[in-house]
Amino acid sequence: QKPAIGTRSRTLGILNQYHLNAKKSLGQNFLDDLNVLEGIVTAADVTDQDDVVEIGPGIGALTEQIAQRAHQVLAFEIDQNLMPVLDETLADYENVTIVNQDFLQANVPAILAEQLDGRHRLKAVANLPYYITKPILMNFLKGSLSFATIVLMMQKEVANRLVAQPNDHDYGALSVMTQYLYQVEIAIAVSQKSFIPAPKVDSAVVKLTPVATPAEPAYSQTAFFSFVHGCFMHRRKTLWNNLQSVFDKQPETKVTIKQVLAETGIAASVRPQALTVSQFVGLTNQFHKVDL
Ligand code: SAM
Repeated sequence: QKPAIGTRSRTLGILNQYHLNAKKSLGQNFLDDLNVLEGIVTAADVTDQDDVVEIGPGIGALTEQIAQRAHQVLAFEIDQNLMPVLDETLADYENVTIVNQDFLQANVPAILAEQLDGRHRLKAVANLPYYITKPILMNFLKGSLSFATIVLMMQKEVANRLVAQPNDHDYGALSVMTQYLYQVEIAIAVSQKSFIPAPKVDSAVVKLTPVATPAEPAYSQTAFFSFVHGCFMHRRKTLWNNLQSVFDKQPETKVTIKQVLAETGIAASVRPQALTVSQFVGLTNQFHKVDL
C-alpha cells in the first residue's frame, strides 16, 4: 500500500521521479498536507452519490482523496506534461477521467454530458491556480451548470472578499454577486507551508452552497451583475455619483434616479459598500421598471 499522493514524502518522490519543476505561470502549488486535503473533501461532503468536477489536478493529491469517496471524478488539467504523471499516480482509480484542457476554454457542459451519467449530484472541488481565481469564480457565477456544492481553495484575500458583509473593508461587487447566488463560508484557513512550492500568500478553503431562490430575484442576472459592477466603479464616491456614471448625467435622468432612490428608501449619499444584496436587487428591478 503506497502512502497517499498528498503526503510530503510521496509528493517529493513524484516530483523527483518526473523531474517536475512546478510552473509558476500555471499557478502550480501542490498540496502536500493530508489534513488540508481531507479537510477539503470533508467540507464538500463528498459521497458515492456525487460526481465531482475538479479544476487543476496537478499530480493528483486532491483527485485521489475525491476518488476514494465519489462516484466519479472529472478533472480538467491544462498542463500536458502532467498527463503521464496522473496516468501513473491515479492508475488505481477507475472512477477518474482527466481532460487535458484549459477549464476556461473547454465546453464544460458538453464534456460533462458526455463523461458523466447525469444521475449523480454534481459538485465542484479545486485547489485553484491563483492567477485565474477571479475568472473561474465568474465562470461559476455566470455558468449554466448547477452544482450542489462548490469548494475552492484560493488566496485568503479573495476568500475574505467573498464572505465580506456590507460596510466591511473587503465588501464589493464580487461579494454581492457571489452572495446573491450562494451562501458562502470559509471552511479552512490554510498556511503557505501546506504547499510545495509555498505560495507567497496565505490561503483559505471556501464553501459555496446555492441559496434557495431569493424572495425577490433580479429580473435578469446579467443586468444585476452589470448594475452592481457599475455601482462599485468608484468605491469612495457616493451611490448618487456612481449611478450617474451607470446611467447618465442628463437632468431628466437625475430626476428619475432621485425618484427610484426615494421609492426604495435608499439615501443618495450612501456609499455603495453600505448596501445589502437585496437592496442592490431592489434597485436593479426598480430602475428596470422605470426604463433606465
Ligand atoms: N490539485 C493539485 C493540488 O492540490 O496539489 C494542484 C493544484 S495547483 C494550485 C493548480 C493546478 O491547476 C495546476 O496543476 C495547474 O497546472 C492547473 N491549471 C492552471 N491553469 C489551468 C486551467 N486554465 N485549466 C485547468 N487547469 C489549470
